[in-house]
Amino acid sequence: MTVAGSAVRRLSPDEAATLGTEIQRRIGVKTSRQEPLARFTTMRVGGPADLFAEVRNLFELRAIVRFARARGLPIFILGRGSDLVISDAGMGGLVVMNRAQQVRIDGADLVADSGLPLAKAATVAKDAGLSGLEFGLAIPGTVGGAVWANAGAHDSDVRTILVEAGVLGADGSESALGPDALGLAYRDSALKAAPEGAPLVVTWTRFHLTPADPAVIVARLDEIRRWRQAHQPLGQPSAGSVFRNPSEGPSAGAIIDGLGLKGRRVGGAVVSAKHANFIVNDRAGTAADVRHLAEEVRAIVRRETGVELRFEVVFAGDWSAWEPAA
Ligand SMILES: Cc1cc2nc3c(=O)[nH]c(=O)nc-3n(C[C@H](O)[C@H](O)[C@H](O)COP(=O)(O)OP(=O)(O)OC[C@H]3O[C@@H](n4cnc5c(N)ncnc54)[C@H](O)[C@@H]3O)c2cc1C
Repeated sequence: MTVAGSAVRRLSPDEAATLGTEIQRRIGVKTSRQEPLARFTTMRVGGPADLFAEVRNLFELRAIVRFARARGLPIFILGRGSDLVISDAGMGGLVVMNRAQQVRIDGADLVADSGLPLAKAATVAKDAGLSGLEFGLAIPGTVGGAVWANAGAHDSDVRTILVEAGVLGADGSESALGPDALGLAYRDSALKAAPEGAPLVVTWTRFHLTPADPAVIVARLDEIRRWRQAHQPLGQPSAGSVFRNPSEGPSAGAIIDGLGLKGRRVGGAVVSAKHANFIVNDRAGTAADVRHLAEEVRAIVRRETGVELRFEVVFAGDWSAWEPAA
């Protein structure tokens, strides 16, 4: 299971205030304390961050990450919050929301800051007559989050097109790493193995694309849009697929559907009637509702089929007080 942030210490109000003042003075980035995080996630759950900052360019992103490293201050990089279930207790340390989103075309390459929405990258590529990023249209994350997850869909993924990405290491140095060095595999990367509170941070990416007839690209984008609307509960808060697909046999969604679990509910969280691998938060549910339901589904699948589903979503933040249902 991926549970991030549970071991991150909480900052006292005084500590958060002092650090916030210093970040503002040294880097020029405003911070806030006890910032509610739910509105920055697609699942719409999550308590407050001890300390929160929004960065708007790579200068600020690099500076704040290096500041945190130098102080031993735990950080969490928040993209578009589209793969996260943030605990109701919130998050310790400093949450850095990445809104660095410059993008440029360099020949047949698209070079983007890591805070650029992947869907925006897909439309910039389309406008430049470049094909290969169409799958990103319907993935509501940032380019950096997409590298972290090796996000993919419609028979493609980040690995297929990534030339290299800038990554800030634990010592604050930045390297350009290719797909192998990043360990990109099905919904996986080496970034996922970084210690809680001390992530490897993607700063920028270079994707190699293929010149193509704009009409063909537009047709592909339309097809993807239609497929999503038909198959996914797009109007409702969710974090996408809850579980990874098993390496063989039926998909996670087919297994869950086959067990009749669509519509199963805990509080405000329900297994989507449209796509059984989605949990939607349709009645202002809590993160605990979502997690209880997800654990319940996993336990039923294990009991009934022997399949051990692995979480795709990340249970992030301070889950130290969370108890599984008896
Ligand atoms: C409706 C819906 C449909 C979806 N469909 C798909 C799909 O088809 N395919 C797919 O793969 N995913 C899908 N997702 C999941 C999600 O959009 C992707 O995993 C996406 O890549 C997450 O990016 P993000 O910016 O939202 O990351 P966040 O959710 O903000 O963060 C996820 C993790 O990435 C880390 N992270 C974010 N930015 C950086 C960075 N710059 N450097 C290092 N680490 C970083 C965070 O710290 C966190 O651990 C879907 C989600 C939704 C809600």
